[in-house]
Amino acid sequence: MAPTWAEDVDRDLVRSAGARLALLERGEGAYVWDADGKRYLDFLAGIAVNSLGHAHPVFVEAIARQAATLSHVSNYFATPPQLALAAQLKRLAGTGDTGRVYFGNSGAEANEAAFKLARLHGGADRPRILALKDAFHGRTMGTLALTGKPHMQQPFEPMVPGVEFLDSTIEALEAAMDERVAALFVEPIKGEAGVVELPAGYLQAAREITARSGALLIVDEIQTGAGRTGAWFAFQHAGIEPDAITVAKGIGGGFPIGALITFGRASELFYPGTHGSTFGGNPLGTAVASAVLGEIESGGLVEAAATHGARLRQVLESLDSSLVEGVRGRGLLLGVALRHPVAGAVVAAAQEHGLIVNAANERTVRIAPPLTIGDVEIDEFAELFAAALNTVESALLLENPTPEESA
Ligand SMILES: *Cc1c(COP(=O)(O)O)cnc(C)c1O
Repeated sequence: MAPTWAEDVDRDLVRSAGARLALLERGEGAYVWDADGKRYLDFLAGIAVNSLGHAHPVFVEAIARQAATLSHVSNYFATPPQLALAAQLKRLAGTGDTGRVYFGNSGAEANEAAFKLARLHGGADRPRILALKDAFHGRTMGTLALTGKPHMQQPFEPMVPGVEFLDSTIEALEAAMDERVAALFVEPIKGEAGVVELPAGYLQAAREITARSGALLIVDEIQTGAGRTGAWFAFQHAGIEPDAITVAKGIGGGFPIGALITFGRASELFYPGTHGSTFGGNPLGTAVASAVLGEIESGGLVEAAATHGARLRQVLESLDSSLVEGVRGRGLLLGVALRHPVAGAVVAAAQEHGLIVNAANERTVRIAPPLTIGDVEIDEFAELFAAALNTVESALLLENPTPEESA
């Protein structure tokens, strides 16, 4: 028997997503509780969104204070929190004085703005836009056109034209690039594809190759940004300067906000009347994001993402499970590669054991805990995740005594 809330989901919500895993009612720190009072250790953090965990006092206080001060005024007006967040993002991204920030309300909106930026740069002479196969940039019609997953695009064709998809190799980029390319979009770690890193040196090469042909390099930091990989933004590990980055997820810590951050000459492409959003950059959202980023900074959570990420990785690599093939990712954005297509079963078993993780695909379990976790949470995770793997391993052995042969 499906619980009544599952019936409500089925009856009342659009069927654009699958069945929901649980009815979650509240959260605190790295934990959430469902409607039956069962507690889960949340190592997904709303898909890399809840940077400070749940109900963090800084997050709560920022919302309450700004809601009681000024929540929304339209973009006919500027507000202090909006200007403060723009300056903060420019500083953290390292744009220098010439950077600019556009605010939207989601990752897709940040990438829509980036797509328009690319078109403004390209004009009639540069109709081509390059993106990587298997990368994810969003689900609106524009960002879906940038998303190199044919099965996601197919029901919604025709796509916005001009986008071509490349293998994630430097050679493929060299071969595709010419003076008719407006921009290259890249995800520094392909999160939705299963936490897949780009080849070593890719971003540096992409910077050189795009600069040579006059194309923009646009880095989608929506999942990797806000300190998650052990740098404020993943492109910073590569020591390059892109033309633009997009951010969302972790910067709001649970409040919906996204932004496009431009560098140098790319900052001069938009002109009045070319883009906008009613909610984008309103004082409520920007005050919350500012407080979240401020707490990540003052709490040393970027460095913590690196050190705790390394420890988490060690824990995962030392798991005694025949299911685990390896670990991918960086900082607190990790993917556990499985030898069998059982990520869904591992996630379900983890949930049974009181742990939330996610199946990025059939063979990858994605792990993206709050940046605020410490050794206690990592130890608890190790125990619960090992138990989940064990459950699935035993079930596999029952079904098929020699699982290696069916791999
Ligand atoms: C989540 C995500 C998006 C889309 O963000 P939404 O807020 O869901 O629109 C785009 N790009 C990447 C890399 C993402 O992880």
